[in-house]
Amino acid sequence: MLGPKKKVYIKTFGCQMNVADSEQMAQVLADAYAPTDRPEEADLYLINTCAIRRKAESKVRSLLGSLQVLKQRRPHMLLGVGGCVAQQEGERLLAAVPHLDLVFGAHGICRLPEMVRRAAQGRRVVDIELAREFPPQPRRRWAPGAVKALVTIMQGCNNFCSFCVVPYVRGREYSRPPREIVTEVADFLAAGGKEVTLLGQNVNSYGRGLPEPITFTELLRQIDALPGLARLRFATSHPRDLSAELIAAFGELPSLCEHLHLPVQSGADRILQAMNRGYTREDYLQKVAELRRVCPGLSLSTDIIVGFPGETEEDFQGTMDLVRQAAFDQAFSFKYSPRPQTRAALLPERVPAEVQAERLARLQNLLNELTFKAHRRLVGRDHEVLVEGISKRSPEELCGRLRTNQVVNFSGPRELVGQLVMVRIAEAHPHSLKGIQAEGCSITWPLAADPQAPQRRVSC
Ligand code: SF4
Repeated sequence: MLGPKKKVYIKTFGCQMNVADSEQMAQVLADAYAPTDRPEEADLYLINTCAIRRKAESKVRSLLGSLQVLKQRRPHMLLGVGGCVAQQEGERLLAAVPHLDLVFGAHGICRLPEMVRRAAQGRRVVDIELAREFPPQPRRRWAPGAVKALVTIMQGCNNFCSFCVVPYVRGREYSRPPREIVTEVADFLAAGGKEVTLLGQNVNSYGRGLPEPITFTELLRQIDALPGLARLRFATSHPRDLSAELIAAFGELPSLCEHLHLPVQSGADRILQAMNRGYTREDYLQKVAELRRVCPGLSLSTDIIVGFPGETEEDFQGTMDLVRQAAFDQAFSFKYSPRPQTRAALLPERVPAEVQAERLARLQNLLNELTFKAHRRLVGRDHEVLVEGISKRSPEELCGRLRTNQVVNFSGPRELVGQLVMVRIAEAHPHSLKGIQAEGCSITWPLAADPQAPQRRVSC
């Protein structure tokens, strides 16, 4: 008879792509390891790393140092590092951290069971080989009650933005065959899932290099047509590759949520050029105007880097001005930090750290104001909410997301977790909303698989 499974703890740093990779790690190890959220009982401790900013990388190094104690207490525990830092450092990481057992890149996840087996035999393992196609994916098993799914549709990036390490650590861009993606989503919906987020470093260039040509928008159409899909999202998009066809899809596809994350990075043409972004501030603002025309309720979020080498106060004012014009609902903003191998790391004219910090503070004040303003606009209206779980603020409350991606907390029975409900927004807070379940509203779900009648059915 088989004994109880061993336990795997996976610590994830970074973006949704890494969250999806961590889920895949858990899946490929599922025959031998059950996931745990208690690191102190792990037989296998994996750290999935991010190298996009120096701060994220420093956190990984400090965690690795502190794990020496746990490793001494549990000498049989295997310790592994995956993801971008693993890919970037390879053997160097193994040499620097004596208590580390395995190092593997994003393309090696499917080989993880074999790596773990070798590490258990006392060997120190490094596997950072980059694939030359989208790596094969095992068929996913969906946990009962899963309502949201992250589905990776491509790997790598060909854009070589001058600040970004991704093309070096994740390799060139490879798209996953559309049939595999559609099957994975259909399986998820058949298991009761409601929301799907398609992931890639640059999803809107999806399809390049596939034997049968397909655009990202065509893939969205195929997925939108699947019965049972309530919400479709994607991340991350590059403004240059945001085609007219994709913009139009925001006004056409019923499941496509009214939210787009569109990283602008800077509002100064000189800096955008130095970043090798391939668009101007005018191009960006025109696309935003067109998006808002086809989808008036669209919520827009972005990424911004401040203090890129050579950024002057005038350039920074260009960013502040663009932020006001685009009226972002949400934004992630960071100080520039040089990354290994990237072209920007060689640029002179570094912006002093105190200037970077002061500009970031000014930018974040403005972004916070805009987010709060966007929240206040929602007050008094009813919105469809996908209930994701119990609120972190209070065990008495539920927590969910609007189609426009804002978080709302409201009172309601636990049975609503995983359901779509209508919620009236009662209070706006700087980073969240408070609501009340709207009386007498119901959402008919799933939609009938009738292509002639794809409208969402909400009645109040
Ligand atoms: S588009 Fe630019 S920022 Fe995004 S992953 Fe590719 S190189 Fe990095």
